[in-house]
Amino acid sequence: MKCEELLKYLNEYVDGTVDLAVCEEFEKHMAGCNPCQVVVDNIRKTITLYKEDQPYTLPTEFHERLHTALRQRWKETHTGDRL
Ligand SMILES: [Zn+2]
Repeated sequence: MKCEELLKYLNEYVDGTVDLAVCEEFEKHMAGCNPCQVVVDNIRKTITLYKEDQPYTLPTEFHERLHTALRQRWKETHTGDRL
């Protein structure tokens, strides 16, 4: 899996709806790619903190904001890495 492919599955992975096979590839990629690891770790922490406050389903608005922030952070991390 390449970074660009990982980005495609990022939302599904974070939501826990990604295929098991994809999930494995995803984790294999993260093990060897620090920028992707950082982004996914950060977003996981955000979700955990949020869930501690509200243990039910995430509101759609939060979801959308999260996904936008996720993609933005991913791009920033990767662009910074290349420059
Ligand atoms: Zn990567």
